[in-house]
Amino acid sequence: MLLHGSELNIDANGDVDWGPEFLAGFDVCVASVHGEFTQSKDEMTRRIVRACENPYVNIIGHPTARMIGRRAPIEFDLDEVFRAAARTGTALEINSYPDRLDLRDEHVLWAKRHGVKFAIDTDSHATVHLPFLRYGIGTAQRGWLSKDDVINTWPLAKLRKFLRKGRA
Ligand SMILES: [Zn+2]
Repeated sequence: MLLHGSELNIDANGDVDWGPEFLAGFDVCVASVHGEFTQSKDEMTRRIVRACENPYVNIIGHPTARMIGRRAPIEFDLDEVFRAAARTGTALEINSYPDRLDLRDEHVLWAKRHGVKFAIDTDSHATVHLPFLRYGIGTAQRGWLSKDDVINTWPLAKLRKFLRKGRA
């Protein structure tokens, strides 16, 4: 079975590209910060918490938006975001792309302690990027995750229930 999904942009206020009617057509939505990196820590925290509270946002993509060697991670209150992700049933991404590796290992362990679930993916923009999955799995292992913590490993029925989140 193929799930139909999309990556959404989280704007400065924590809103995403489309409204509920359109988002309801997807099985899974990833929402990520791609700009307005210079907000205050409080604003950034509210922005990501708000995205978690959106019933159509299943996964927060590359949560700290870092680009290793090129861009520092954005700053937000990690505990507050991890609590919101756990409370709302929003997974955090472990992005396997070599210049992201985001969340990073120690943040994975920290988030797990809040009860957060994770999605490991490659951020592939070409088929040759798919083997990068190994780096995300390595990050998850360094964060002491097991299968129960990683939604990609779940049986389909359990995954689909998680992806329904608070949707009407
Ligand atoms: Zn992205």
